[in-house]
Parts: sequence; structure tokens; C-alpha cells
Amino acid sequence: MRPAAAARLRPGRLVLVAATAAAAAAPVLAAPAPAGALVTVPLWLFWLAAVALLGLGGALLAQTVRTRRSLQRERLANRLIDRSPNLVCVLDPHGALRHMNGTGRHWLRVSHAQIAGRRLDEIPELGLDAVQARAIQGVIEQAVGGAVLTHELTVRRLDGAAMTLELSIRAIPRSSDAPPNLLVEGRDITQRKSVEDKLQLAAAVFEQAREGFVIADRKGRVVTVNQAFCEISGYDVQELQGQQVAALGLGIGRREVRRQVRSALQTAGHWQGEVRTSRKDGSLYTCWAAVTPQRDAHGAVTHYIGILNDITQFREVESNLVRLAHVDTLTDLPNRSLLADRVGQLTSISRRDHRPFALMFMDLDQFKNINDTLGHSVGDALLGEVARRLQGTLREVDTVARLGGDEFAVLLPGADASGAELVASKLLERLAEPCMVQGHELSMTMSIGIACYPSDGDDYEILSRNADTAMYRAKHEGKATWRFFAAGMQQRSARQLQLESALRRALERGELLLHYQPQLDGNGRQLVGVEALLRWKHPEFGFVSPAEFIPLAETSGQIVAIGEWVLRTAVAQLKAWMDAGVPPMVVAVNLSAVQFRHVGLPDAVAPANPAAAISMMDALHALGVRLSLDDFGTGYSSLSYLKRFPLHTLKIDQSFVRDIDTDPDDRAIVQAIIQMARALDLQTIAEGVETDAQHQFLRREGCDMMQGYRFCRPMDAAALEMWIAGREPASTDNVVPMIAA
Ligand code: C2E
Ligand code: CA
Repeated sequence: MRPAAAARLRPGRLVLVAATAAAAAAPVLAAPAPAGALVTVPLWLFWLAAVALLGLGGALLAQTVRTRRSLQRERLANRLIDRSPNLVCVLDPHGALRHMNGTGRHWLRVSHAQIAGRRLDEIPELGLDAVQARAIQGVIEQAVGGAVLTHELTVRRLDGAAMTLELSIRAIPRSSDAPPNLLVEGRDITQRKSVEDKLQLAAAVFEQAREGFVIADRKGRVVTVNQAFCEISGYDVQELQGQQVAALGLGIGRREVRRQVRSALQTAGHWQGEVRTSRKDGSLYTCWAAVTPQRDAHGAVTHYIGILNDITQFREVESNLVRLAHVDTLTDLPNRSLLADRVGQLTSISRRDHRPFALMFMDLDQFKNINDTLGHSVGDALLGEVARRLQGTLREVDTVARLGGDEFAVLLPGADASGAELVASKLLERLAEPCMVQGHELSMTMSIGIACYPSDGDDYEILSRNADTAMYRAKHEGKATWRFFAAGMQQRSARQLQLESALRRALERGELLLHYQPQLDGNGRQLVGVEALLRWKHPEFGFVSPAEFIPLAETSGQIVAIGEWVLRTAVAQLKAWMDAGVPPMVVAVNLSAVQFRHVGLPDAVAPANPAAAISMMDALHALGVRLSLDDFGTGYSSLSYLKRFPLHTLKIDQSFVRDIDTDPDDRAIVQAIIQMARALDLQTIAEGVETDAQHQFLRREGCDMMQGYRFCRPMDAAALEMWIAGREPASTDNVVPMIAA
């Protein structure tokens, strides 16, 4: 193998010489053995032999001297090859390794024994995969066929590091027809390769980045830009190359920005900032730009690298958000927060200049009817029209804001009370003019509350609260009018007005909840149902009694939405209990008489039209809903209707129950109610049962059901569940929701 390897220096010849020398040397060294026979041979033969041997010996001697020299040369060659800076190896025609020089073995950290007779892909230490193995095999076949090839191969060294070799492969010609061995020389190009890879990666990043890159020389002339920059700016590379960056209208070109960039580069060695700049077509865009200088080994600037991020969209979204935070989207008017800002500013100016101003809160009258009967799109269009009319009637310096829903506000700088009054009457007049909205001729009125600076307050908080109070006063006193805030007004009914105003947000703010009070059979033992009782927990006022706020909700009409919420919540709670395995029971829900007027078109059921209420009750009855008449004996007392209402239960008002023990009249009334109910085939339930004596009396008289503190107070759903869990199972025959009117 070695002689073959030596062929690299003088291909072919050395190999042949060495092989011949070895073959010739063998008989020479064996020659003394036959010499023992010389004694017995004839003299002539001896001479002959001697002459022959002499001739042969001379030839052989010359030959041996030559052979030694070649062997020396060969060893030298081998040593040189071993220490070659490159890998050198010889493969047989099948690709099996016959020899690898020391450099190669050192690089790959393999020994002769590990590689001899194996193909490269058969040396597991090199970690070649199937694709690499196939590629090498292909190269070997071509080289055996006479081609001279180069091939790049990445192998694993024993120490795990990857090494990339550039192999050049050629056949070693043979004299015979046998397929040639191959000489392979490999250069270590690992480092070059990694630099190349990095460059390639950098080029890919440059080209594929979403940021725009501009590379300029030290004089600020564009050397190149990437695709993203072309897309952002609308220029193409050729147009830009050689141009002064400053001349491109890139914003960086503006003198002020240029000055900033220069000073930042000097002090910090880097600049970044936001620039507003134009594209090739002149359209503007906003970008976040950074400039970094590149320096040579001596620290001199050779290039500048600019990176641009198009943040136009981001800025648009941002400014939209800012706008949304201050502007009402339906009408494009300032919203409550912008109004508060403006009032704040105006307050400080007015304080300095000792000038008055007025703040008006206004609420459209009956707007909900329009929404309910004609639909939200008409409602929205109408709000738009109102906004236009308000703005059209006022001066530039005035602010019209929409506070939400059908509430608007107007801020009048410089206006005193008489000025505000004038404006209010103008606004009412303008609003009353009929307008066509989606084919409907509509006219609007509104209620206006006016608070004046400084007499009614000197900050937004107080002024707006007082304007609101005055507006509610206007609503209560006939609508379509205005009221000034007055201190007395606040004292008289501040709580009422505040509650009513706060109640409007109670639902959406989740301040309402239901408590439940058990209803038991006449013996006071078995649970037959619960009554849902509304609770309002206001962050400032605390728990507000339904006795106080339900009447407010009734007069303002909010009872409709609230009642709907109560029904929905109670039904959902009942379902949750049943799902949780609580025995079926009746949930009684209180309905206000106002709700009976409001269900369906509000004007279809006139306030004093019990017939319409009856037909609604019939409809509910048909649904399986049982009705009970609450507080019987007070209020809705027309006995003639008792027969006509599809009622199930009469509820004996607690005012009669309370004094049963002491008041014979009340005892008589309670007895009469129970008897009458029995005659009409109605059930009775007594509420407000607090004592055992009350309970015993009612039980004796035959009252069917009991409810009151004697048995249990109203409590929240979770507490009720625990209360039920601690008792016997309730009866299972009343599973239909009952409504107490
Ligand atoms: P109501 O329908 O007559 O409800 C009975 C009231 O008496 C409840 O007061 C209840 O907590 C209370 N109560 C129960 N047991 C006793 C007792 O043994 N002694 C005394 N002194 N009181 C007892 P609450 O919860 O404050 O409700 C007051 C009124 O508010 C209710 O009178 C009802 O008219 C109205 N209300 C409550 N929730 C609703 C509702 O969801 N919708 C409507 N429209 N009205 C409701
Ligand atoms: Ca009730």
C-alpha cells in the first residue's frame, strides 16, 4: 500500500520499481542454500555456473543499490505525504480505504485499524448519513471512469466537532486493465464554510427582513438597500444606488433630523428615532429608524447602516385608540371624558378671567319608545340628527358631547344663567322641529338641567352632578323643559334623584342581585317554594331597600328592564338548583303592575286598562306560570277582578299579619281573606310571619302557606342551598315558576 501511496509524487513508476525490487530481492537472499551442492558438480559446470553467477550477481548488485535509493525516496515521500497539510488517502475502485495519511487520521481522529479496508460510510465515527454515502459512491464511480472531481463533505470528528472537507478525487492510472485505485486529497474548509454560511445567512436576513435596510458609504451615498426598503419607500435598488440618502426625502434628510442624527452618532455612536417621511409617490409614512456606523480596523467609518420600520399602521391604530377614548363613535361628538377635560380647562381659564360658564346635561324624552318600537337603526339615526341639530344651534367655542345613550351635554364658555336659558330654549325649539328618519316623521323633546360656574360648583365632578340633578328635576316636572340647579332642589330630594340616576347604571354595573326567602306549608315544616327579592348594592349608598328604589324604577320606567333581569336570573337560579339536585320548588318572582303595561308595545296597554292586563295574565297562565296577587287587601283591591284574574294564590299582606295578636280588626280581615280565597278556589300565603302566635293563628284559620322571619329570612342563593340541605326534602308537586303580581 505504501508504494502505491508514493505514486502520488511520480505516479506509476515508483510503484513498479518497488514491486520489481521486492520480487527480485527474494531469490537473491535465498541463494546460499543451493550453494552447498557445488562440491559435487563437474568443474566445467562450476565454471560455467561461476561465470553465470558472476554475471547475475553483478546485475543483481547494481539492482540492489538502485532499490535502496528508491526505498529511501519512497520513505521520504511517505513522510512528506504523512505530514502534508492536507488529508491524502487512497481508495480502491470500490471506495474502500487502503491508506490515509497522518494528517487525515489526525483530523478525523481515527487510526489505521479503524479505517483500513472500509468505505467512508462504513466508518461510523465519521457519522455520514445515507445521502452523503450515496453522493460519495456516485463520485467514486465517476472518478473510476476517469473523471477528476471535487466534492464537499462534512464529517464528524471523533471529538464530535463537524469538519468540512473539500475533496479532490482522481484515478491512479494502472498498466493493467484492472479498475484504478483513487487518489483523494482533502482540504479543511471548515472555517471558510462557516464564514460562507454566516454570510449567506446575513444576506438572507438582509433580503428577507421586514425592516428596510439602507447601507450607505461614509459620504452618505446609498450602496444598497434591501427588498423591504424598496417596498416601504416605493423606490427600486437601481434608482437609489449612488444617491445621497439625505436627498431621498427619507425624513433623515430634513435638516433638523440630520443634525440630531449627527450629534447622536458623535456622542452615542448610534441614533434612533421616529421620522415622518415620504415615499417615492409623495405619500407620507411614519417609520422608526436607526442608524449605526460601521468602522474599519482603525476605527474609521466605512459605512452607515440604516434600519427602517414602517410604523404608519401602528401609529394610525394608536391615534384611533386615542380618538376612541375621547370621541363618541356614533355621533363623532366628544365623549364624557373629553367633556371632563374641557370643563377642567375651562374652569382654570374662567377662574383666572373671572368669567362664568354653564354646563347643561340633557336627556331625550321617551327616546326608549323610539328604540323599542322603530328599532335601533332609527334610534341611532335620530341620535345622529340630534347631534347635528345641537351642534348647528351652538357656536364654535361651545362643546356638544354625547354622554351615552340618549344623554348629551353642552358646555357654554362665558354663558351666565340668562345666556344658558336662552340657549336651552333655542335648543328645545330646534329639536322640536319634525325630522324624517328612515321614512318616519319624528319630533323630539328633551329635559335639560343647567349648572352654572361658579355658583353651582367649581369642578367637573360637582358641576356635572348638579346638572344631572337639575335634569332629573326637569324630567319629573313635565319633560320638554329645563331646570336650573338649585341648592334647595338638592336638599329636598337629593337622595331620590341620586338614587334614580345611579339606578340607571345599576344593571350594567352588576349591582343588582337576588335574595331568596323560603315559603313553607301551613305547618311551617315543608318547603314549597322561595320568593325572589331584589337587592341593590351600590358602592356608595350601600344596600338600598327595594321598597325605596322599586317605586323610583316604576316611575322612570326602568322597572321593565330590571324586572326582565329578575325573571331571567330567578329562572337561571332555579335551573342551577335543579341541576345541583335541590328538590324541585316554586320560585315566586315579583312583578310590578307597570310591567304589565310595558310588555309588548307600551301604548297598547293603557295604565288604567285592567282588561289588557288580564289578557296578558291569561297568556302567562297558558304558559303554566302561576300568578299570585301580592299584598292582598291593599292597593289593587277591586274584588270583581279577583274572579277574572287567572290567579292561583292570594298573598295576605304583612300589615294584617303584623297585628293579628293585638288587633281584632286585622284578625277579622285575615279570616275573611282566607275564606273568600277558599270560595274562589285560590290558595293563600301569609307573609311577614314573625312570631309563633301569628303562625298558629294562621294555621288554625287554614292558611295554606307561610313566609316570614319566624321561619327564615331572605338570603342569597348559596346560603339558601345550605339551609335547604339541613332540612327534610321538600314536596315535589310544585315545579312551575309562580309569579306574584
Ligand atoms: P313584598 O313583595 O311584600 O316582599 C316582602 C318583604 O317583606 C320583603 O322585603 C321581605 O324581605 C320582607 N319580609 C319577609 N319576611 C318578613 C318578616 O317576617 N317580617 C318583616 N318585617 N318583613 C319580612 P324586601 O325584600 O325589602 O322587599 C320589599 C318590597 O320590594 C317587596 O315587598 C316588593 O314589593 C318589592 N320587591 C322586592 N323584589 C322585587 C322584584 O324583584 N320586583 C318587584 N317588582 N318588586 C320587588
Ligand atoms: Ca312579594
